[in-house]
This record gives sequence, structure tokens and C-alpha cells, in this order.
Amino acid sequence: MTPQEQRPAPNRAGHGDDSGSRLPGIWTRTLGELTLSYVPDAGVAMIPSRVYPSSDEEDWSAHPAHMTRAGHLSMGCGALLVERGGTRLLIDAGHGRISGEELEPFQHGFDHVRDLPASLATLGVDPAELEMVAFTHFHGDHTGWARPDAVEDPRSLFPKARWMVGKGELESVAPGSGPVLAGQDERAVIVTDGTEIADGIRAWSLPGHTPGHTAWVLDTGDGREVVAFGDALHSPVQVRHPDWEVCLDTDRDEAERSRRRLVDHLARDGVYGFGVHFADQQLGTVDGSGHWRPWTDAVDAS
Ligand SMILES: [Zn+2]
Ligand SMILES: [Zn+2]
Repeated sequence: MTPQEQRPAPNRAGHGDDSGSRLPGIWTRTLGELTLSYVPDAGVAMIPSRVYPSSDEEDWSAHPAHMTRAGHLSMGCGALLVERGGTRLLIDAGHGRISGEELEPFQHGFDHVRDLPASLATLGVDPAELEMVAFTHFHGDHTGWARPDAVEDPRSLFPKARWMVGKGELESVAPGSGPVLAGQDERAVIVTDGTEIADGIRAWSLPGHTPGHTAWVLDTGDGREVVAFGDALHSPVQVRHPDWEVCLDTDRDEAERSRRRLVDHLARDGVYGFGVHFADQQLGTVDGSGHWRPWTDAVDAS
């Protein structure tokens, strides 16, 4: 671990249900030419057997490190700030301004741990100056603060940003439901597999969770890479169970193929993953026995 690589400071403050949330606060890590910061927005306590219908309670009882004390799966929602050379961009845009009063059937609880605009302010980032937001996909927990109704300004929290969106994602939205993103017609840039949107930052098409689901591959400049893989995986536990479908996957077979490709890739030397929903284990790699190994161990071992 080099001096500028700081360990994340976990924030175990609760969900409101006092069940032992495992959500991190803001952290910043530097890897080669890459500086990554987690921008927290919300936390969700999930009902694991509903998120993963083919899993059962016994499966989850073996993984207390990922659960709240009440037996729910902790998941974070937020964004990843990427700084590389002269480029500064955000991957995804958090959950947005929703109250959490209306829970999805697979959720037990929802809370804004710290909203994304406040997190950006703490990081010294003016969202009005950001020129690019790259989306993994169009689910609401990833587009939140970029939606037309996110803030009073109809241009959203990011009035200047171009929206980088995987091919097929715009078409995945139900007809008549209106634009997902503010100024979508003028501001969305469609990218395909391998498209480099900035120096050392390229798209990797991993469809299945949604038709245009896209991971972002971030080159460290020293032979390593970080893959921000969105909802190709929702929990470190799923790394061992790529066959477990997720209740929101639009194409289960394709989603499983993408998960297996991703897990194989993360097992390579010098490849790290960022899982935006991975609670307090967002950065890590897949070790030789096929388990998720969180970042601090991975860095210390190198
Ligand atoms: Zn999703
Ligand atoms: Zn998600």
C-alpha cells in the first residue's frame, strides 16, 4: 500500500432500524494514474431471498459478514467519481430524491445515508462543472440525480454533462414513460463495447441485467485496471453463485453469461472490481479460490 492509498473509513451508522448497517462513508483511493472516490447517496436493506429467488435462508446464514443483525442484505447506492489525468467524470448518479416510504417488494428498508449532492460538496466537486456522467444502466437507483425531476433545475444536478449510455439502454425503457435522463435526446451519447469515452476509460458491454448494461474499465496507467461493473453483480456473495438470477434481470441467461465473464475477468492478475451495491466491500478482486477479496487485503497482498 503506497502512502496515497487510503483505507476507506467505514460508516456503520444505522439504517434507522438499528440492525447493523455496513455502509461506507466517502472514501478516496489512488491507484496509478487513477483516483477513485465513492460518492454515497443511499442505503438499502434487502430481503435476500427475494433479490435472489433461487437462494434460501440457509445460503445466507453462511454469510453474516454481508448481513445486518436483522438478517437483511446491506446494499449501498451512490456513484463513483473517477479522476484520471485531465478527466473527471461520474459513473452513475445515485438513487435520487426519493423518500423511501414506498419500498420495493425485495426491500426491507431504505435510507439516505448522506445524499449525493452533499457527498459531492464534501469531495469539492461542483456538479454543474462535470462534463460527463457514464451510466451502467437505466434503473432508478443509478440515474437518480440525473433525472429530469431530480432537482428544481430541469437540466438536473448536472446541467452541462453529456450522458454516456450503452447501446440498447434507451430502447429498454417502456414506451410512453418519458425520458429517463434530463435533456436525454440532446445529451445522451450512445456507446458500444470498447468505446473509449476518455483517455483510459472504456465501455465493456455486459448485457442481461438490462439490454444495454455497461461496465466501465478504468486503466490505472501502470498495467492494472478497475472495472466498475454496475449491477452485473449485486453482492460479494454472488461472486460464488453466478448462477443466481437477480429479480430485476431482464434476460436471465444473458445476465448469467455476463456474470461468469465478469467473475473470470476479475480473477486475473491486476484486475480489481468496483461494485456500487457491495456495501462496505465495494473495491476488491476475485481470489484464486473464486471468492471476493476486499480491497485492503488485495492491496496488502500485492
Ligand atoms: Zn439494476
Ligand atoms: Zn442497482
